[in-house]
Amino acid sequence: MAGEAQSDCLFCKIVAGEVPATIVRESETTVAFRDINPQAPTHVLVIPKAHYPDAASLAAGAPEIAADVLREAGQVAADEKVDGSGYRVVFNTGSGAGQTVWHAHAHVLGGRGLNWPPG
Ligand code: C5P
Repeated sequence: MAGEAQSDCLFCKIVAGEVPATIVRESETTVAFRDINPQAPTHVLVIPKAHYPDAASLAAGAPEIAADVLREAGQVAADEKVDGSGYRVVFNTGSGAGQTVWHAHAHVLGGRGLNWPPG
């Protein structure tokens, strides 16, 4: 069923506390934790607790939770004090765009200059 935890999903295991992560925020529907391979001084992932494979399926299946993820991303930026200088929220979608974990996640990147277009 849409949103159900998947036994083979790394991020579902982080939600369940079965895989360690440095959690910086948690809400009823989301968890935010530091990326283990940071690409910027601030690099936090915000994920829904429910399992959806990517941002589009999350928005289609649970739009209120997609909104929670975006709200939490903004809160992470404020907590990390990168909201003034500017930050980026990225949903890599599909392997060609660099998605490697098939549980929707927002990358919150900040604390350095961010070029456009991204690589
Ligand atoms: O967008 P993408 O699917 O590539 O992002 C997955 C991210 O999850 C990577 O940035 C990777 O460093 C991160 N990751 C993590 N903790 C893990 C496994 C992956 O933060 N245990």
